[in-house]
Amino acid sequence: MPFPAFVAPSARSGKVILVCAVSSVCAALIFSPNRAKHAADQDDAAGAQSASLNREAVDTTRHAQPASPASAVEAAPQPVVRSATVKSSFAEAAQRLGLDSRTTALLAHAFSGEIDFHRDLKPGNTISLVVDPPEAEATAQAPSTTPLAVRIATGTTSHDLFLYRNLDGKPFYYTKDGASTTPTFTRYPLAYERVSSDFALHRLDPVTHRWQSHDGVDLAAPAGTPVHATARGTVAFIGRQTGYGKVVVLRNPPPYQTVFAHLSRFAKGLHRGAQVHRGQVIGYVGSTGWATGPHLHYEVHVDSVPKDPLTVALPGNNPLDATERAQFAKDADRLAALL
Ligand SMILES: [Zn+2]
Repeated sequence: MPFPAFVAPSARSGKVILVCAVSSVCAALIFSPNRAKHAADQDDAAGAQSASLNREAVDTTRHAQPASPASAVEAAPQPVVRSATVKSSFAEAAQRLGLDSRTTALLAHAFSGEIDFHRDLKPGNTISLVVDPPEAEATAQAPSTTPLAVRIATGTTSHDLFLYRNLDGKPFYYTKDGASTTPTFTRYPLAYERVSSDFALHRLDPVTHRWQSHDGVDLAAPAGTPVHATARGTVAFIGRQTGYGKVVVLRNPPPYQTVFAHLSRFAKGLHRGAQVHRGQVIGYVGSTGWATGPHLHYEVHVDSVPKDPLTVALPGNNPLDATERAQFAKDADRLAALL
């Protein structure tokens, strides 16, 4: 579990605090979308943009007013927007928002492909939920709701996830496009022309002329072709290594690590410890190190064991079919307008 710290506090304390119960707290926790918009304006150009796009929809939606949070409870059964400012952790904010530990864990996992809670989530960031208004919400004993939509607005960007229930009613959270964000991986780090050498446990190395394993796959492409991170990660190594030439090693969400070798050059400014997002250019195809021609040598390690990058099971496959996805996107748009 990559995020025990987020789950533990709410699981330990075992009590559900309904944010509406205390009006002085409520003012901070439940506020009108206009106030949310101002917060977004200050923090976040992307968030502000989406907030302004959504203003019309928000204005027509009934929601809790800061001064009289009880009115939300009495309102017609329309989705309710709840927001909380992060003080110490995602779990702590989630608890104030009335989420139980199971839902908190589900969301922490769902967001883990997008956000590193330890690193990216800062005090003052905002978490907003769209929830069905349960009639029982006025009582502190009410079971917490599984949110229909969740937005985490960090300093630079906002991340939205939306609830999907399968036929058994099991909850999942996907992006608006119906994609899972539970650490998402892209299969290929570049537009390659052909696989010039397969992953192999034992092969005759063309350069050293010795039998050894080939811990990755060679993807042939013209020198200078951009190489992209296949998942969010941290640069664990950037530099030269014997055989590998210019190489970047990324530590991706556990248990994954990826290696990009024989690069002609690195992306400008990339350094050890830098955070990269999926799809970010990290370098360019070359033939540095032991390479007979320009190609990318690409490795995927799972729990430190090299796996065939072309076949290894990667998280984040698109779980919805086209019809479901279209409907999901439409629903998500409607919910996003409330956030
Ligand atoms: Zn290779």
